Amino acid sequence: MSDDIIKRLRDAIAGCRYDSTPLWISPSIGIALLDEIERLRAEVGALRDEKHDLRDVLIRGGFVPCDIPACNCGSWHARFGYPERMREIADALADAGHELSNENGNKPLNALRELVAEVDALRADAERYRWLRGDLCPDNSVRWAQWEVRCWRAPFWTVDLRREELDGAIAASMAKDQK
Ligand SMILES: [Zn+2]
Repeated sequence: MSDDIIKRLRDAIAGCRYDSTPLWISPSIGIALLDEIERLRAEVGALRDEKHDLRDVLIRGGFVPCDIPACNCGSWHARFGYPERMREIADALADAGHELSNENGNKPLNALRELVAEVDALRADAERYRWLRGDLCPDNSVRWAQWEVRCWRAPFWTVDLRREELDGAIAASMAKDQK
């Protein structure tokens, strides 16, 4: 439709022999041109709104227009090095044994939850060991009255092992196991 109007306008212009020849166009071409201008105006308005919305999306996503003279790309940059910070988090999670993968949906938050769950489990183990070690036990604790941790050192069993002694005895036995 619009191509047809433009062709008719071109033909009318081509019909003018000289620059000074008045351009005559029929009212139907004139009306069609005005309609076309209105249509294009509406389209530009819609595109302008869309551009505005997309700009908002970028800004909310942490992006800013390029203002680096040396770069001058005319595009957008992630503010505060957002992708780099995310990559650092992903690397740190991988180092901690929770690499982003399909299992955790490649989401740092899921990997972080796994890590927290692991830490909670380890903390529970550590608290039990510290109780046995005697660190957290008050003087009247059942640890002293009802528990003994002894180790066979030929030809005798040791006394109840506590704190550094217990650490040392466990480390020595673990070392023997690993030989
Ligand atoms: Zn740039």
